[in-house]
Amino acid sequence: MLSLGCPKTLVDSETILGKLDPGVFRITNSVADCDIALLNTCAFIQEAQQESVDRILELVELKKQNQIRSIIVMGCLVQRFPQELQKELKAVDAFVGSGEYDKVSQIVSQVADGGHVFSVGRPGYLATAAEGRVALTPEFYRYLKISEGCDHVCSFCTIPLFRGKHRSRPMPDILEEARLLVKAGAKELVVTGQDTTYYGRDLYGRYELPVLLKELDKIEGLHWIRLLYAYPSCITEDLIAAIRDGEKICRYLDMPLQHASDPMLQAMRRGITKRKTIDLIKRFRAEVPDLAIRTTFIVGFPGETDGDFEELMEFMESMRFERLGIFTYSREKDSAAALLPNQVEESVKQERFEKAMLLQQRISGDNNQGYLGKTLDVLIEKADEHNPGCRVGRSYMDAPEVDGSVYVRSSKKFKPGTFCRVSITETREYDLVGEPV
Ligand code: SF4
Repeated sequence: MLSLGCPKTLVDSETILGKLDPGVFRITNSVADCDIALLNTCAFIQEAQQESVDRILELVELKKQNQIRSIIVMGCLVQRFPQELQKELKAVDAFVGSGEYDKVSQIVSQVADGGHVFSVGRPGYLATAAEGRVALTPEFYRYLKISEGCDHVCSFCTIPLFRGKHRSRPMPDILEEARLLVKAGAKELVVTGQDTTYYGRDLYGRYELPVLLKELDKIEGLHWIRLLYAYPSCITEDLIAAIRDGEKICRYLDMPLQHASDPMLQAMRRGITKRKTIDLIKRFRAEVPDLAIRTTFIVGFPGETDGDFEELMEFMESMRFERLGIFTYSREKDSAAALLPNQVEESVKQERFEKAMLLQQRISGDNNQGYLGKTLDVLIEKADEHNPGCRVGRSYMDAPEVDGSVYVRSSKKFKPGTFCRVSITETREYDLVGEPV
């Protein structure tokens, strides 16, 4: 199984593997070693679509060389371009849409018997706790998908087209899965969805994320609960309080903002103004002093002027986000923004991207200096392959796979998945270095 894209897709991939009868199928993580290659794709933006197509073509090449027997392609790219893929990629044995995973065991058996399958229906699969998952991350941190799809209408985004409308999982089922994951060794649960703050709106008629977080906070043996993909206009006082008062809830908030100038926020259909965003961030920081905020911005959105971009830079300078990613605007077919006038030149997008990344590099370095001499809990992930006397871990400010690291200098061989208190002795632009206390 090769799983591309976001944590939601990774959970789907784990669920898919959980459906394969271990008495019939042996799962290997080496493509050279397999008969049937499973590829779960991403269609978020053109770059991700291209990466998915490139991986498919690599598998087709391996099949031509008889190194693998069959190819099954699944997920967002299939849901987004079903006909095109089926027409262009005849060597693929099965195409499975992002909502068809309840049929996956039978589809894999059909392919194993030499069959060809095309199964694309309603987008977005919402698994239950009973379905089980095969871990594709280290056991000590696991993603917990609480909902599927999205009801927002951001003009640059096509995700609702291939993930569908927002659907929340029933809370008892999420809690059951969380307990099972902790029993299986999870120390950190990373809460994910397209918009986690919208949780419960469909099922319970109100935002129920704060209640869910409080219930997760009661689970014995769990150390960290981390929240990803919060939508600014769906953040409530209850959520701020839940993060402030939670014993295990990381003081970490991943909240994509996308831009800071009002004309851009409006054209993006983000449903929030700059003023409201600043008030929200100030309120959150006042209530949760050591909060680490991760956000993302898009530069080069249609109509973005030098003035809009300067406003974004000033906003970054004043808000001083702990973690930040920048994307250049990607003109997605079937998105509303693709039809907007004043599309920005690629060279201008790139220039703005580099300027913003340079600014954030400085801000991140300055922020990190504030941790010199401080002591942090660090979740050890692995040995540092470049430095034998060192372990690599994460603090509460670091989500897996996207944020920085804490390098722990010690002769003691801390096991992956263990926590240790670390006194910070050195800081870098994106990472911290320290010694166990
Ligand atoms: S919140 Fe906006 S950007 Fe995110 S998935 Fe929904 S529509 Fe897309």
